[in-house]
Amino acid sequence: MTSTGSAGTTAGVAEDGLDVSRVRRDFPFLRARINDHPVVYLDSAATAQRPRAVVEAESDFALLEYANVHRGVHTLSQRATARYDQARERVRRFVGAAAASEVVFTAGTTAAINLVARSHARPLLRPGDEILLTEMEHHSNIVPWQIVAQEAGAVIRVIPVTDAGELDLDQAAHLIGSRTRVVAVAHVSNVLGTVNPIPVIAELAHSVGAVLLVDGAQAVPHRRVDVQALGCDFYAASAHKMYGPNGIGFLWGRRELLEAMPPWQGGGGMIEVVSFDQTTFAPPPARFEAGTPPITQAIGLAAAVEYLEALGWEAIERHEATLLAEATRRLAEIPGVRLIGNSADRVGVVSFVVDGIHPHDVGTVLDLGGVAVRASHHCAQPLMRRFGVTGTVRASFGVYNTLEELDALVAGLHEARRVFGG
Ligand code: PLP
Repeated sequence: MTSTGSAGTTAGVAEDGLDVSRVRRDFPFLRARINDHPVVYLDSAATAQRPRAVVEAESDFALLEYANVHRGVHTLSQRATARYDQARERVRRFVGAAAASEVVFTAGTTAAINLVARSHARPLLRPGDEILLTEMEHHSNIVPWQIVAQEAGAVIRVIPVTDAGELDLDQAAHLIGSRTRVVAVAHVSNVLGTVNPIPVIAELAHSVGAVLLVDGAQAVPHRRVDVQALGCDFYAASAHKMYGPNGIGFLWGRRELLEAMPPWQGGGGMIEVVSFDQTTFAPPPARFEAGTPPITQAIGLAAAVEYLEALGWEAIERHEATLLAEATRRLAEIPGVRLIGNSADRVGVVSFVVDGIHPHDVGTVLDLGGVAVRASHHCAQPLMRRFGVTGTVRASFGVYNTLEELDALVAGLHEARRVFGG
């Protein structure tokens, strides 16, 4: 996993995969010491660290070129508008969308899902209609649907998760029906790392005339996304999970669906003509971007896309698969550690419990050794109930993690067992 020192590397890519020592130099954060230990950051699924290129893209713009977009005739405003439009085009290519107008900048995944729930689903839902979710969803892909379902008298149905942490697709086929209007599914589980078979689910959704929203928050840092190949109708993601800034994300939606949707927030930038009697709205994506947008963050998001693409998806996947395999093997060897989920297709996320020790206590002992993991319900309480736990410890890997860092994780777990007698 560490640098082989091979020649001819560009942007952190070595001939045999990821040149991790070079990648690590892009992340000054990794020089931090926590509790007198080098930081071991295994919480990228909560939020990923940012490379210098992303922060510099933002700070260069903020220090040298900053202006508001869309409304200015002066040169700076026109340049800012061009940069903002370029960022949208970058995201279009990143997800394989047909047109940049299908990409709406939002505050993040949560906002993107709320937009679809409020603006696509709510006007369409009738009493008795159904929304199909899965047992592994993040609260962000449950609560917005619950709110609109309650308003409309619609019903939430849930695809169960198997012991391996995969969706039970036989059950899905029984749960979907002529009343299903929306299917909303995580591309990748934030707890289990499971990669869900989106094209299969898209076919199922479309067979009954439902639309499919994919929550891509945990997929975008790990896998190349092609919304057209996935066959979904909406795709939501956050920049901060993919080494970009927080405060921005995006919604991709099929053009005809976005065009048919009313605005969900009103304000400047989303109108054509306003009078006190009536307002006409701009076409998408402006219709859904009321107010001054997160301009600097959009430029940071574009830089994050460039960073990921320069590393290369194959190298990223190979690196993370190695970390995942090694972490899984080593954790399974520790007495009292029980891994949750073991799906065939996974990204670099492992969840586990340690017999007799509360996840918070495990997390605290790991922190004393400089290891940052998440210990909680991970905003996925229904999934915790499914596996009969109140929470888990989750280690999640990014492009900057090394096999050597797993030593600190494993040592911390032995220490937790020694301290708490697990
Ligand atoms: N969906 C999944 C699967 C997530 O993991 C997260 C964040 O952890 C979200 C949605 C919400 O993302 P955000 O808080 O950036 O809106």
